[in-house]
Amino acid sequence: MKFELTSENPLRITVISGKGGTGKTTVAAQLSYVLSRIRKIVIADCDVDAPNLHLLLKPEVVEERPFFGLKKAKIGEKCTSCGLCYELCRFDAIVEENGGYRIDETRCEGCALCYNACPEKAIEMVEGERGKVYISNTKIGRFVHAVLYPGEENSGKLVMEVKELARAEADREGAAAIIVDGAPGIGCPVIASLANTDVALVVTEPTLSGLSDMLRILDLTEHFRIRSAVVINKYDLNEDVAEEIERKCRDRGVEVLGRVPYDETLPEQISMLEFPFRGKAAGEIEKVWDRLREFLS
Ligand code: SF4
Ligand code: SF4
Repeated sequence: MKFELTSENPLRITVISGKGGTGKTTVAAQLSYVLSRIRKIVIADCDVDAPNLHLLLKPEVVEERPFFGLKKAKIGEKCTSCGLCYELCRFDAIVEENGGYRIDETRCEGCALCYNACPEKAIEMVEGERGKVYISNTKIGRFVHAVLYPGEENSGKLVMEVKELARAEADREGAAAIIVDGAPGIGCPVIASLANTDVALVVTEPTLSGLSDMLRILDLTEHFRIRSAVVINKYDLNEDVAEEIERKCRDRGVEVLGRVPYDETLPEQISMLEFPFRGKAAGEIEKVWDRLREFLS
């Protein structure tokens, strides 16, 4: 039986790549557009360190929520300037200033060592706003996105918040699919992007570094037992490496669902924020959905 989208059990697709710049967001955006013509969808941008899907989707924000990350240290008035916390902090987050000490919040990792060690109990661990999460309307569906304030880390936790909100929005809206533009790389944010995913779509490009990044991310999805398939972007720029990517995928039993040709009009469409995309690359991304349906059947 052919796979059908249903609001009872929304399909959760996460589009990822081993590193940035492979066309991951382009694929996620166009695929979202294709699915939005079939059923209601929710889109989530989990690339919270460098979000750019909002540029294409031109969201109208309907709700804004503060994001609270890890608690960070704050030195209070009881401090006697003994310097113990300064000695202990391994992250150089305590700064000597005017004969006293202060915390550099951008360096504080929230480990609470100073809090526990201070003989004067002069340090508090304080929750602060580290970013914002937005729920927006776009022409193709509800969109959950976020920003992390400059210098802030812990984007894995923010990614989890974006995903949870996207799921809640999908339930509220009766959406039949959640398309996640995942964080790049293989670190904590991408692992958070992949949580509760039905299928990971790995976007790669035909370069040796693209091949090696793809293999690393497939190791990750295999480790977490997430069904994965590959899209080769700009495959015709280096057909030898594209063939090597296909061979490696075959060896691992991973299907290649898209071979997106280089489209010289696409960079201009992207820079002019002309979305949905048109042309041969957009056409091939649209076919990825048909193949994904077969893959899921
Ligand atoms: S350990 Fe406590 S008292 Fe000593 S410098 Fe740090 S905050 Fe001040
Ligand atoms: S909480 Fe940890 S990282 Fe932050 S200032 Fe204290 S010792 Fe340093």
